[in-house]
Amino acid sequence: MRFISSPQIFSGKEFLAPGTVLVLDEKNIICDIISSQEVEKNLIEYFNGIICPGFVNSHCHLELSHLNGMISKHTGIVNFGLDIIKYRNQASHELQLEMMQQADKEMNLQGIVAIGDISNNTNSIKVKEQSSLYYHTFLELIGLNPDRADSVFQGGQELLIEFKRSELPASLAPHAPYSASLPLIEKIFTNCNIYNLPTSIHNQESEAENEFFNSKTGDYLKLYDILGISLNFFKPTFKNSLQSIGSIFNPKVRTLLVHNTFTNEQDIRFIKNRHSELFWCLCPNANLYIENKLPDFNLLNINLCELTLGTDSLASNTQLSIIAEINLILQSLPNYSLESILKSATYNGAKFLGIEQEYGQLKKGKNSGINLIEGSIGDFSVKKLA
Ligand SMILES: [Zn+2]
Repeated sequence: MRFISSPQIFSGKEFLAPGTVLVLDEKNIICDIISSQEVEKNLIEYFNGIICPGFVNSHCHLELSHLNGMISKHTGIVNFGLDIIKYRNQASHELQLEMMQQADKEMNLQGIVAIGDISNNTNSIKVKEQSSLYYHTFLELIGLNPDRADSVFQGGQELLIEFKRSELPASLAPHAPYSASLPLIEKIFTNCNIYNLPTSIHNQESEAENEFFNSKTGDYLKLYDILGISLNFFKPTFKNSLQSIGSIFNPKVRTLLVHNTFTNEQDIRFIKNRHSELFWCLCPNANLYIENKLPDFNLLNINLCELTLGTDSLASNTQLSIIAEINLILQSLPNYSLESILKSATYNGAKFLGIEQEYGQLKKGKNSGINLIEGSIGDFSVKKLA
């Protein structure tokens, strides 16, 4: 039995009363949450920092771990995407596996306990089967041509079967507004609704995405030209991307909008009016890496968007660390509420994944990981206590 305490204990939703003590059994399960007066002082292990549940990384691409350090910074999303296509299959299967295992270990050391992970194939199954971390895999589907919706969806269902066979939680997810047709997005939402599973979509990661939808101009024309894909079927909507596709989302499906770097207030109001199960994922280090621009944290906050945090992949980040994402946000906004950023890093991500009874909160009877956050605001580090 261990009794642990610190000046600040964050439950996943709020700070607990000063003097709170967590009682852990030998398996790190919280057997009780008590006041320091209920236990002999010399039995309590005191830590200097903030104790909180294990972190939830709600957006990662484990499959891209071998691209660590290979993609140039600040080249914009289109060049980034082309580099990924160019390099992702160059490494051997063994190297890809080894780099995924290393990334899984790194996340564990960084106090991450659960991950929403994007996959385009079955390469990560072995790592996920062997990992002590919880993974929900989003099988990401790509197909902008509406005529291909059925065959792309069929391919996604085949991938789903492989993950189910390995007893790994998984659901389908459209890649992004500029790479998934409306019929494909609709099929994915229908499927997630039937099985009560969450989905995820990259949203407004670049200005070019809005430009593509508003006027069928900009960098995405270059991308599709290089890829040799005709865009004859695509018509501009004269609206931003989120407003162009958001009405097709099934509002009963928990949906993660990832990045939101170029999302404006009108976009937020539009989607919030239609959809109550929305979560907004921030991956600020990846945004700096690719576009050298941060999302408007204040705008999302003022509009009461339920925020989660993600690392994105090692192709667009130098580390897979939620505390590094927290630090970057606090460096640009030192007065940002600590309570709300810690909630984004724990409870909100767990709620999105549908695992909030097991992860994201300090709860009696559960082992959701226990982190100790040390250091000063904007320069935090994390240590695993349990
Ligand atoms: Zn991503």
